[in-house]
Amino acid sequence: MRINVLDYYDAADWERIRAEADRHESPFLVVNLNIIQAKYEELRKYFQFAKIYYAVKANPAPEVITLLRDLGSCFDIASIYELDRVLSLGVSPDRISYGNTIKKARDVRYFYERGVRLFATDSEADVRNIAREAPGSRIFCRILTEGSETADWPLSRKFGCHPDMAIDLVLLARELGLEPCGISFHVGSQQRDIGAWDSAIAKVRYIFDYLKGEGVKLSLINMGGGFPASYISKTNPMEVYSEEICRYLEEDFGDDFPEIILEPGRSLVGEAGVLVSEVVLVSQKSSMGVDKWVYLDTGKFNGLVETWDESIRYPLYCESRGEMSEDFIIAGPTCDSQDIMYEFFRNPLPAYIKAGDRIYWFSTGAYTTSYCSVEFNGFPPLKTYFVK
Ligand SMILES: *Cc1c(COP(=O)(O)O)cnc(C)c1O
Repeated sequence: MRINVLDYYDAADWERIRAEADRHESPFLVVNLNIIQAKYEELRKYFQFAKIYYAVKANPAPEVITLLRDLGSCFDIASIYELDRVLSLGVSPDRISYGNTIKKARDVRYFYERGVRLFATDSEADVRNIAREAPGSRIFCRILTEGSETADWPLSRKFGCHPDMAIDLVLLARELGLEPCGISFHVGSQQRDIGAWDSAIAKVRYIFDYLKGEGVKLSLINMGGGFPASYISKTNPMEVYSEEICRYLEEDFGDDFPEIILEPGRSLVGEAGVLVSEVVLVSQKSSMGVDKWVYLDTGKFNGLVETWDESIRYPLYCESRGEMSEDFIIAGPTCDSQDIMYEFFRNPLPAYIKAGDRIYWFSTGAYTTSYCSVEFNGFPPLKTYFVK
């Protein structure tokens, strides 16, 4: 099976990416900002009632933040460094949430001093820190969710707490003078099972009901990210995600519809990026061997971390028109044996691929540049070029 460009990009968008790619030496990422804008507008259309907080970690480039700022987005921030960047680009603190549940007390203070008043939490120690360092702020409590088997990049276990603990934390937060406003969850990134939102929303309903009995009225559900980008494995279109998730909300909260926050990362920026790499070497390990190794000038340490365990299967596009073959193992350029992207999953590549040929990695706008090592083996982080 050969990757068809038009299954991933419309002709005009691809044209602009290609023209930019031709002007630079590999490796690098090209980001088409028009695609991010279209993705943002699509999400707005399908979730008209929701506030969008872009998860900055997915692609923290100033160009991306500026575009989303101008489109009216809010921002989900995970560190003081992301905060500094977003504030320096003119985003006001009332459009920012500190979404990381793992934070130092002094970092909470740093956010508070700069005007941020919305914080995620999932532990008692953190609630106490927030109460002390960011008095009176709004907090939402993150709960554990299922769905790690159907998310290509699961986030569960490390984040969130049991719903019963969430209830205790909300009550504690109220006691400490904070303003508990809601519950958050993240069903796992690249979540292919839409049902994961159903069970999470049902848990939130239970928590809301219980706390009502305690005299706490929660009004916010932060449904996190998890919406897909288009890779090799098929996913439903955003429209289907929206229809289903809206139905779950309607069923559980129909008469008392809560305030909704979404924190998309991957689904907003993933498809906008194409990572351009070049074949450094094609080799075989023995004269009888079937497998051929294709070594590229980019790998796990300069952009392709999400090929870890072959979790994210990027579509690879290569221009040769000849015969295709799946005999290739694809690896990066560094001296680390972990730097192999695909060994079990076989991307078809041109049978006669050779050094100097370019391979285009589609849908690499998310979690690539921000995940690069700074100079492992001296290889610099990936550069990004932007087109509109
Ligand atoms: C990473 C992250 C997101 C973004 O997730 P995607 O699956 O990329 O959309 C959203 N919210 C939080 C709290 C996150 O950690």
